Amino acid sequence: MYLTLAVIRASQNSFLSDEQKHMSTTTHQFEADTGKILDIVIHSLYSNREIFLRELISNASDALDKRQYLGATNAALLDDTSPQIILRTDEKAKTLTISDNGIGLSEEELVSALGTIARSGSKAFVEQIQNAAAQKEADKDNADADTLSLIGQFGVGFYSAFMVADKVDVISRKAGAENAYLWSSDGKTGYDISAAEKTDAGTDVVLYLKKDCKEFLDEPRISYLVKKYSDHLGYGVMWQPVNVDDARQLNTGSAIWTRQKSEVSDEEYTQFYHQIGAGYDEPFMTLHNRTEGTLNYTSLLFVPSQRPMDMFNPDRKSRMQLYINKVFITDECEEFVPPWLRFVRGVVDTPELDLNVSREMLQHNPAVLKIGKSVVKRILSELGKKKKKDIEAYQQFWQQFGIVMKEGLYEDLDNREKILDLCLFTSARTGALISLADYCEAMPEQQDKIFFLSAESIEQAQTSPHLEGFKARDIDVLLLVDPVDEFWVQAVGSYQDKSFTSISRGAQDLDDIAPVKDSDKDTQTDTQTDTEQDFAPLLAKLKTVLDSRIADVRLSKTLVDSPVCLVADENGMDVQMERLMKAHNQDFVGMPRILELNKDHALIQAIQQKIEKNADPDMVQDACMMLFDQAQILEGKTPDSLTDFASRMTRLMQKGLSV
Ligand code: ADP
Repeated sequence: MYLTLAVIRASQNSFLSDEQKHMSTTTHQFEADTGKILDIVIHSLYSNREIFLRELISNASDALDKRQYLGATNAALLDDTSPQIILRTDEKAKTLTISDNGIGLSEEELVSALGTIARSGSKAFVEQIQNAAAQKEADKDNADADTLSLIGQFGVGFYSAFMVADKVDVISRKAGAENAYLWSSDGKTGYDISAAEKTDAGTDVVLYLKKDCKEFLDEPRISYLVKKYSDHLGYGVMWQPVNVDDARQLNTGSAIWTRQKSEVSDEEYTQFYHQIGAGYDEPFMTLHNRTEGTLNYTSLLFVPSQRPMDMFNPDRKSRMQLYINKVFITDECEEFVPPWLRFVRGVVDTPELDLNVSREMLQHNPAVLKIGKSVVKRILSELGKKKKKDIEAYQQFWQQFGIVMKEGLYEDLDNREKILDLCLFTSARTGALISLADYCEAMPEQQDKIFFLSAESIEQAQTSPHLEGFKARDIDVLLLVDPVDEFWVQAVGSYQDKSFTSISRGAQDLDDIAPVKDSDKDTQTDTQTDTEQDFAPLLAKLKTVLDSRIADVRLSKTLVDSPVCLVADENGMDVQMERLMKAHNQDFVGMPRILELNKDHALIQAIQQKIEKNADPDMVQDACMMLFDQAQILEGKTPDSLTDFASRMTRLMQKGLSV
């Protein structure tokens, strides 16, 4: 169908010089099916129609970029006006005009750039967009995204103007050219091109707003949209209603990340960090980089110094702002940083993506994946540098975010080694935060494992009986107190060929490593000839009394001060893991543990003697139970029955105190 606009309308006529008034209007038909496609585009995007402004402002910004770029080598293309975008409204005419003093369009370009929808072609586009429209009926939410991405792929951004306008006029004068032209269309059938008058180079896009789109005449609404989508555009977006002389700038107008690092002050970085809602604190690290070559992107990333309130909210996702050539796309881009770096905030700006890229497409987009990998690599390497340079500051960072980064140890195989190198743990020996490399360096020669102890808190760990033998031998143990430790430690297995070994699981044989203190006891331990055989009566008694409460009972090789402790079987679950399982499932019942006895402890020896002499069987019974109670309490558990526990304690105290 041909567009039947035969004459230039009177309003347009006024743009023309006398000479130009004689120029005839040329009427063009849209390519086959274009009208239909436009119709689908307009309806598919309707719920999102505000994006027309983003699209048109972005086109204006591109045109300004182009003029600047070409003007650098051809001064004739420039004039003394500064590049800007002006939004003008005319309440009476119900028009919104987006003006730029950019490169402009020639008559031919108006035809080739604006006259050809789906320039790349074609049938495929028509078919796909029709499919998307059909799917929209079935699955509304997703279809919108699909259509959006198609529209992006085929570059019909400009046509989004028809979502809000019955008619669009484009009056443009190419920089360096004498003549201006008017392109006019109702977006349905075709367009007219005729001569126009325009004093300066650039483009005015005049939207004759539809009846239900009058909201786009209101300053607050436009101002909100400009802030939302175009705040950090490299150019000012001005607001100037008709008959008003002064223009007001709506956006910040300087994409801080596009500036040279040396030109941005620390205050400006911090201000921007606050502005994007990344935090109220001072950032711990600010990483500003431009990558050019096979992959082009600019990133401005912030590592906060304070943990955000919702760090552990299961719904909290990674959040980065994505810009495409300074045009805001989303501030919920999860693809650039993995969940274990979800505290990192900032901006990635890349020309590698299309403006209308959909959420679904972001997830699988190869450029996004590559940028994501490169961003993570940079964050890890910068954290490594900071750790080397200022360990105290790094320790503070680790206290806040280490717990999150450790998730990466089991979620991100590719980066596991690098994350391990960044990890810090509390040393049982010094109480300080140390790295795995520090730990390995300080290991005695005979030690071939990385010993760790899981506990609920550092305080609880430090008083655990499991540590006694290690302390006596001056062997360091890493204290793991974050729930996440239970998971990664199993997944990772070893560091520098040294296996992570829980000291509360399995039997630890420290015989090869000589104790360094408490010489009396130590000599005794060394020359001890007692074997399991000597303690057989006590071991047997405990097995009978405690029955299914324990998996086994044996003599300990690590206890020094405490009489007993509980250890998990070699393949069993650490007490911390059990606690986590219970937190998730009330009915979870852990496996019974192995009770270990300190054969050098006076209490153990006393009970053993009572058994050998067959004396005080009731007291022995209570004492056996109490040993178990005590071991449980030291693990942070509550005895099974507190009433029974109190009764046992009363009986034993009474006997002990009576003369
Ligand atoms: P895209 O911007 O993705 O190429 P559009 O449909 O938005 O697709 O625009 C089509 C083309 O029209 C642009 O590539 C550009 O060449 C031209 N164009 C649009 N708006 C302007 C403008 N304000 N100034 C100069 N050229 C423009």
